[in-house]
Amino acid sequence: MTDWLSIAKECGFDEAAPLDVSKLQTEAWVRDTCAEDKCHAYDHNWTCPPACGTLEECEARMRQYENGFILQTVGKLEKAIDVKAYAETGQRLKDALLAFSERIREEYPDCLVLGAGACLVCAECAYPEPCRFPDKAMSSMEAYGLFVSRVCKDNDVPYYHGPGTIAYTACVLY
Ligand code: SF4
Repeated sequence: MTDWLSIAKECGFDEAAPLDVSKLQTEAWVRDTCAEDKCHAYDHNWTCPPACGTLEECEARMRQYENGFILQTVGKLEKAIDVKAYAETGQRLKDALLAFSERIREEYPDCLVLGAGACLVCAECAYPEPCRFPDKAMSSMEAYGLFVSRVCKDNDVPYYHGPGTIAYTACVLY
């Protein structure tokens, strides 16, 4: 049996744990924050609302899976607001998630990869022209209505790793 948790660590994640898919709950208010467009991806990326489908469609997609993982990168802050550490930790999540998704898709080509923020496969999304890499594209947990801290709590995974840290979270359903 493939040791995906070890592979996740090899890919660069600091934390990797099983995720109980039956505990996933979509929350409309999380999805609604996407429409506020704070990250400038709403209606600008195939993996974000509205292009990723309705919340009901996203939930139905998630319900097709029986297994999953929660994956995190955890960074250390050198000051209270450490933009450099946020960027580095976010970049590590992106790199690790791309590497891990490539590995797990060899065995589970239809797995669902949900990251943090809009799809980052391309430097600039092709939207509204056709997606360049539909087999690699990944939505965010928020786009699927998942409240990340709740998903962590429901799976006994820390969302907060203590003072002076920042954690970014992703999940993979398979
Ligand atoms: S793979 Fe590229 S074109 Fe497709 S959703 Fe991601 S960023 Fe956009």
